[in-house]
Amino acid sequence: MKTTKPRSAASALSSDSALPHDARWRQPRWRSDVRRRLLDWFADSARQLPWRGTQDRYRVWLSEIMLQQTQVVTVIPYFERFTKRFPTVADLAAADEASVMQLWEGLGYYRRARQLHAAAKVIVEQHGGVFPGDYPSVLNLPGIGRYTAGAILSIADGQRLPIVEANTQRLYSRLIASTTHPSDRAANALLWDFAEQILPRRDSGTFNQAAMELGALVCTPQDPACSQCPLQVRCAAHGQGLETTIPGKVKNVQYEQRTEFALLVRSRRTDKYLVYRVPDGQRWAGLWDFPRFGPPHADSVQAAAEQAQQHFDVSVTVGSPAKTIRHGVTKYRITLQAFHADTDAASRNCDDRKWLSADQLKTLPLSVTGRKLAQYLDHLTP
Ligand code: SF4
Repeated sequence: MKTTKPRSAASALSSDSALPHDARWRQPRWRSDVRRRLLDWFADSARQLPWRGTQDRYRVWLSEIMLQQTQVVTVIPYFERFTKRFPTVADLAAADEASVMQLWEGLGYYRRARQLHAAAKVIVEQHGGVFPGDYPSVLNLPGIGRYTAGAILSIADGQRLPIVEANTQRLYSRLIASTTHPSDRAANALLWDFAEQILPRRDSGTFNQAAMELGALVCTPQDPACSQCPLQVRCAAHGQGLETTIPGKVKNVQYEQRTEFALLVRSRRTDKYLVYRVPDGQRWAGLWDFPRFGPPHADSVQAAAEQAQQHFDVSVTVGSPAKTIRHGVTKYRITLQAFHADTDAASRNCDDRKWLSADQLKTLPLSVTGRKLAQYLDHLTP
């Protein structure tokens, strides 16, 4: 069960002052100077963004979820389309999942969209359609953790709640020259302690946005622009020449090569293609895809055809290779080999399975590779 109170430095894993870092940030004067410098810089340098300046929790929530692991420039058109189609949380709750997924298609990390939709339903059912304004209720919504709850309530309501996300994690680690990687629990607790204590009494939301903005625009991961940074004189990492070595790298991921097979199963009777809705718990759950199989169930296209018979009850004749797509998902480096395949099976539609023409596939929310294969079929269509 989720923690339902804002955790202070004392109630979280306690911040460990024995960790290597520069402790000058514990002086009130240091913190007030950093606040002033950062807020002055933000007043001059903040980007105009479609979600900036709003006090609508729904819009702040949406922007924060979309921005997770995703660049601002990518998010802007998605945010605008999404809020146009679903202007309120009640509109989002009332939507069917396919239309939510379709608007999300291409933004990646699709679990976010499904949790957003689930949370909207909870807000309608348990909060009368009004996005809650108290921390425990927000933290209990699907897909919302400590950072997102703090961001929503500080930005929309000015509540004094800290945040630590990718940009602030890097910025704060450098400011205090914390040389232990933030994935370490104690180092992470130190950063939350810092984030809480650096907050001004008022305008916490502006401060949080300013810190994220400085991290995004100036204190960037590879090449921080220290000469343009308003915090340079206070930055311990810069003082020690450690700005490019903090926060350091996580252990190298060991990638695994994997070959999968997709079947572009065409009905000889209707000239339509078989797609299915990816079930819960699988990669791209909620999106649609062509039948696709890989290890340990299929190590060849013939084995994939047998899997198609078992899973979809269609007997297929495998034809020529169609397209090869290389892509990465978590630790896997996947080579997807797609083949044409024909069937005489009846092409009946149901909730989680459809037979569609190349043209009809354009309106369905598809997985990333599914979209590429649909475009490939569309190009083949005279
Ligand atoms: Fe980041 Fe450099 Fe500014 Fe320090 S001085 S906060 S390392 S940009």
